[in-house]
Amino acid sequence: MIGGGLAGITAALDCAQAGCEVTLVEVRRRLGGAVYSFERDGLELDNGQHVFLRCCTAYRELLGRIGGEGGVELQPRLEIPVLAPGEPAVVLRRSGLPAPAHLARALLGYRHLTVRERIAAGRAALALGRVDPSRDDETLGAWLQRHGQTTAAIKNLWDLIALPTLNVPAAEASLGLGAFVFQEGLLRSAGAGDIGIHRAPLSEIIGHPAARALEAAGVSVRLGWRAVRVERVGARFAVDGEQERFEADGVVLAVQHHRAAALVPHELSNDTDWADGLGASAIVNIHVVYDRQVLDYRFAAGVESPVQYVFDRTPAQWRDGRQYVAISLSGATADSQLRNEALAERYLPALAALLPRARDAQVLRFAVTREHAATFRAIPGTAALRPAAATALEGFALAGAWTATGWPATLEGAVRSGHAGAAAVLRSR
Ligand SMILES: Cc1cc2nc3c(=O)[nH]c(=O)nc-3n(C[C@H](O)[C@H](O)[C@H](O)COP(=O)(O)OP(=O)(O)OC[C@H]3O[C@@H](n4cnc5c(N)ncnc54)[C@H](O)[C@@H]3O)c2cc1C
Repeated sequence: MIGGGLAGITAALDCAQAGCEVTLVEVRRRLGGAVYSFERDGLELDNGQHVFLRCCTAYRELLGRIGGEGGVELQPRLEIPVLAPGEPAVVLRRSGLPAPAHLARALLGYRHLTVRERIAAGRAALALGRVDPSRDDETLGAWLQRHGQTTAAIKNLWDLIALPTLNVPAAEASLGLGAFVFQEGLLRSAGAGDIGIHRAPLSEIIGHPAARALEAAGVSVRLGWRAVRVERVGARFAVDGEQERFEADGVVLAVQHHRAAALVPHELSNDTDWADGLGASAIVNIHVVYDRQVLDYRFAAGVESPVQYVFDRTPAQWRDGRQYVAISLSGATADSQLRNEALAERYLPALAALLPRARDAQVLRFAVTREHAATFRAIPGTAALRPAAATALEGFALAGAWTATGWPATLEGAVRSGHAGAAAVLRSR
């Protein structure tokens, strides 16, 4: 197993469970890959807020398998408070009706669209439910416009879901992946879109529990171990590190797409269009500690504001009234280039506009985390680039949220890819 993100962790556990002797190598000194937290001056920061949905069954199952489920919280019913400057919050809440009627009342009462836009959005949602998710020939935004959605409706409604799940705005996103997200998360079953958040720091939910679970499963984990080459040696594979070489009957390569091309055996090296073709989309998080409570929700979305989502990240042990909030910005390639001062100038006033108590509050801490290549860019044309887990080399499989899982680059996609990678190498035993 090369790579200790969700895909590699999942594949390692599957292979160990199937009775294989497994070694997992990870270049960093921790597990979790794109999902981690770290301490800075006494504050535990997530590299980025991570959200999942009830329909993320493989991810939720992995949490149970490693014992990380205690750190997450799943809404009993989908509820998204939407904040706009100078206005009371509107809460998008599903009703107890079956899908897709469960969202009708929320949509009809959604004040950030005109009444005409709300009705048009309902019609477009039903039509989107019939779009073939394999369609990758236009953007979700173009399709929405053709189906009567105004620019304001796309921004204030559709992008509330598209941006955080696809990590590009609807205007750029692949129609098929967009349709998949809305179908799977919102249109097919009423409970599917209930939102799960990580309450504890991410490494307490993924990295540390995964290390314990892998050890219990007998997997040998080598941290700080960089794989530099994989080659076929007879019917086996050799994995070269900087100082050490392993031989293995099977290899699951579970690293990021832009790192994977250099590691596929030379027999497959002509088949790596994905390495450059899938591109990268950034996620930026802005962490602010105020001297008082400014946000009354676990999380909220922003409209008419550069703030996309804001989360309450106050540690449970804080009892002095301070509040730690984190803004999460998806599709944030432009913001990822800005310096902290410029981000503070843009986002502190934006928070104050959404959260009236933040206007008089004192900012005690301000920090930024940037993930320049958080996910691939889910634009039209990417579906054909995403490779299957099984490759032309028996015993060598690919895994990672960027492979052909049918899901966007998500926690769920990563775990599913890990299962697929493990199944591919186990089949060749
Ligand atoms: C800030 C941020 C926010 C996100 N928010 C969400 C969200 O809200 N919901 C959601 O579902 N998804 C979200 N995602 C996406 C999700 O985190 C990823 O899709 C998923 O974690 C990817 O897992 P992976 O195992 O495929 O890859 P990775 O986690 O990238 O793992 C690959 C691993 O391979 C290792 N590696 C690379 N090269 C080598 C080498 N040569 N030798 C050894 N090891 C190597 C890397 O160090 C890394 O640990 C977010 C991602 C980021 C970055």
